[in-house]
Amino acid sequence: MSKTLVSIVIPVYNEAENVALLHGEIAAAVAGRPEEYEIIFVDDGSGDGSLAALKQLHERDARVRIIQFRKNFGQSAAISAGFENSRGEVVVAMDADLQNDPADIPRVVDKVLEGYDIVNGWRRDRRDKWLTRRLPSFFGNRLVSWITGVHLHDYGCTLRGFRGEVVKNLKLYGEMHRYIPAIASRMGIRSTEIVVHHRERRFGRSKYGLGRTFRVILDVISIKFLLTYSHRPLQVFGGAGLLMFLAGLVSGLYLSYEKFVMHQAIAGRPLLFFTLLMFFLGFQAISLGLLAEMLSRIYHEGLDKNEYVIRERIGFDR
Ligand code: UDP
Ligand code: MG
Repeated sequence: MSKTLVSIVIPVYNEAENVALLHGEIAAAVAGRPEEYEIIFVDDGSGDGSLAALKQLHERDARVRIIQFRKNFGQSAAISAGFENSRGEVVVAMDADLQNDPADIPRVVDKVLEGYDIVNGWRRDRRDKWLTRRLPSFFGNRLVSWITGVHLHDYGCTLRGFRGEVVKNLKLYGEMHRYIPAIASRMGIRSTEIVVHHRERRFGRSKYGLGRTFRVILDVISIKFLLTYSHRPLQVFGGAGLLMFLAGLVSGLYLSYEKFVMHQAIAGRPLLFFTLLMFFLGFQAISLGLLAEMLSRIYHEGLDKNEYVIRERIGFDR
């Protein structure tokens, strides 16, 4: 029987001092494991010599493969490219900055092999700044949990394990990588969570600040929309539109009665403005819903386009 292949996918953006150390720790962690490993580094447009460092690793270790982006497309795009180019029956994603601990890889792989489709890392003892990281993610995690209906302790942990076929069809962009569990839940996946080790960043800098919180919130709205209504957007907009339209109709009829039967002046009445507003908004919402319906048809007819552009792939021809 041939060995199980595990792909490790790592997004790299200006992590020159980290990659060799990381590679060393991964090699040590998987030494003696029964599976075979490939390590896919995705260089997300680094400008600091990360690529050169990665190429050196590739020279020394044939398991190392490199995808080089033409420019910085973001962590989600990098992870997505790694997924798309992975060949493993099991795929593990992790950060390049040594905050995720490679020693956790075997436990993640074992959990996937046990029969889970997704194994999420939970950084219970998280080593990040309190104000800009842990506080926003405290609220962020609750929000995402509530809105997506997929309940985890930690959505932001990159260290995760997947059954290979689960990741092959995920298209990730923006801050979407943290919603992988929610996106995948509609495929009917079995997922679980395990506590993983988290460490402080020693080299290089974090690529994110507080601004990410806003992007995370906007993304969760669009995720919710895509997950529940992307097949029927008219029901979201159309429902509200119809209600407003009916409200306008009722108050309009009442005003007509006042004017034509009771012969009262209606020009200065607040109700008239309400009527007009409801008619317009209702009409607008319904048309928006119809437009969204058309867009969703196009969307579901297979918009097979990646957000990223690859300059070169190294080590994939074997
Ligand atoms: N990263 C990336 N592209 C980006 C930003 C980050 O590939 O545009 C990588 C980065 O090199 C690291 C991981 O994503 O491996 C997580 O980034 P970072 O450590 O800055 O995030 P934090 O841990 O502070 O949330
Ligand atoms: Mg980090």
